[in-house]
Amino acid sequence: MAIWNPWHGCHKISPGCANCYVYRRDESIGKDAGIVSKTGDYNLPLKKNRQGEYKLTPGGGVVFCCMTSDFFLEDADEWRQGCWDMIRERADLEFHIITKRIDRFEECIPPDWGDGWDHVTICSTCENQDRMDHRLPILLSLPIKHRQVISEPMLEEIDMESYLATGLIEHVVCGGESGPKARPCNLDWILKVREQCIQYGVPFTFKQTGAVFIKDGKTYHIERKYQMSQARKSGYSYYPGINR
Ligand code: SF4
Repeated sequence: MAIWNPWHGCHKISPGCANCYVYRRDESIGKDAGIVSKTGDYNLPLKKNRQGEYKLTPGGGVVFCCMTSDFFLEDADEWRQGCWDMIRERADLEFHIITKRIDRFEECIPPDWGDGWDHVTICSTCENQDRMDHRLPILLSLPIKHRQVISEPMLEEIDMESYLATGLIEHVVCGGESGPKARPCNLDWILKVREQCIQYGVPFTFKQTGAVFIKDGKTYHIERKYQMSQARKSGYSYYPGINR
């Protein structure tokens, strides 16, 4: 697993962005996260060590793209084609592109995209029902080989059933919000999506509780270091064939 941040900085466009960790982290060091710039890691997939070997080990698994920005951000339009060229060349890796801008997908894909590339997964972030009902019909209509849905921070109860029923979603990830201004996440919301995933045999990951977690009507404040481990220990993640 690797992270590739070809550019840094972003613009808030969605309720899920309100407490964006990129803004939070940049503010803490006096930086403006609204300024978007290329990073020194722009060409990471092609970087080699002194022995002439790729730094990202061939066949090395998932590369998460643009974790401090959005791959389909307008500011990055002139840099994106170079990324596609690198992604095409490194077909031995699995690139996961997480975006809140799935509505820009068609104007951002390379000319030879065709019906999608086998080694690219597009992950659409949907933090509430409104954003899900806007983004998932787009995600499902596009030529993409692998689709995932990420509901993190999950801000309310969401009904995902009609989208899961298409059989086009390969994985769903849910979780709460972290940070000092975190909004609450309710276990009931997590369990509802989990049940829907089980119904359609779609792998489900409960990634983190978030900082403010409601269970059985009681509110818990959870330290950062326990937010992921508590979710893991809950056993609510579901991988067909492995548990249930
Ligand atoms: S799209 Fe992602 S990176 Fe950009 S502001 Fe929103 S939460 Fe932050």
